[in-house]
Amino acid sequence: MKKFILLCIALWVIIFAVPSFMSRKIWNEVPELPLPIVADDKTEEESAVQLADNDVTVTLNYNGEIKNIPLGEYLEGVVASEMPALFPDEALKAQAVAARTYTMKKIAAPPAEEHNGAAVCNNPSHCKGYEPISAFASNWNTATEEYTKKIRRSVAETDGEILLYEGEPITAVFHSTSSGKTENAADVWGGNVPYLVSVDSYGEEASPRFEEKKTFDPEEFKKIFLNKYQNAAFDPNPENWVTDISRSEAGGVKTLKVGKVQLKGSELRTLYNLNSTNFTIYYISGKLEITCRGYGHGVGMSQYGARAMALDGKNYREILAAYYTGTELGKISQKPNQ
Ligand SMILES: [Zn+2]
Repeated sequence: MKKFILLCIALWVIIFAVPSFMSRKIWNEVPELPLPIVADDKTEEESAVQLADNDVTVTLNYNGEIKNIPLGEYLEGVVASEMPALFPDEALKAQAVAARTYTMKKIAAPPAEEHNGAAVCNNPSHCKGYEPISAFASNWNTATEEYTKKIRRSVAETDGEILLYEGEPITAVFHSTSSGKTENAADVWGGNVPYLVSVDSYGEEASPRFEEKKTFDPEEFKKIFLNKYQNAAFDPNPENWVTDISRSEAGGVKTLKVGKVQLKGSELRTLYNLNSTNFTIYYISGKLEITCRGYGHGVGMSQYGARAMALDGKNYREILAAYYTGTELGKISQKPNQ
């Protein structure tokens, strides 16, 4: 009987206890671990790679020839072409950042048809002016070494820096000289751009193109106009030729009527080859006199205004913040999978 009881105990151990113990052991060996971290919980912005100028290559249509050049070298040629090298360092640096931002925006956009596949061209009235920095030696003469260093510094000391609005590179347009106030992009091109709004700009009088005066014989003025606008009707008295002028906040002519034809201030600027749309037309002593203030479209940074701020001790960050409202300085970055 004892043997039978022992046998029963042994069988119970074999049949139930061992598997139960083993299964518990196995279960214990696989403790409940937290899930392995496989997901990348960084935001897209955090995981973007910041780039330096020389990580970027610019495809340039240079007088019809396609060239691939490092961004830094391209920007040196743009700054040298677009701003006098004798301008203060901080103005040149502001120019370098504006040019870099403009270029990155162009690189990201589909190329213009006339570029033949390139991101930018060297036509200053289409993209930005560009000549290799070595091409300026004949202009700079004895100052060549100093100016070359200044231009190179303006790019190197702002390496990779661009202007952002709500995290995106801005359209960093600029012009030579404002009338004392920059223009709203909306008044000049029609579309409202929150960072391209009218701001005060001082020191513009130092520009050789701050004021312009052009005088026309009335018959000559009329002939130029009729050549483009055949349906214009001119009153015998030239005093009545120009009417209904509407101006922007900065004083630029938005629209006007000439010989009863309505046109934009920018169209009249092109027709009479004026420095800006900030003009006034007088009829004095038998002549039509057009006086003009500023040089260029007047939107974004004024280069002579930047010069005045730099001479006043402001740095390039302050200059850029003054002209591009609500923007911040960031770095060129490459998002994953780009
Ligand atoms: Zn172009």
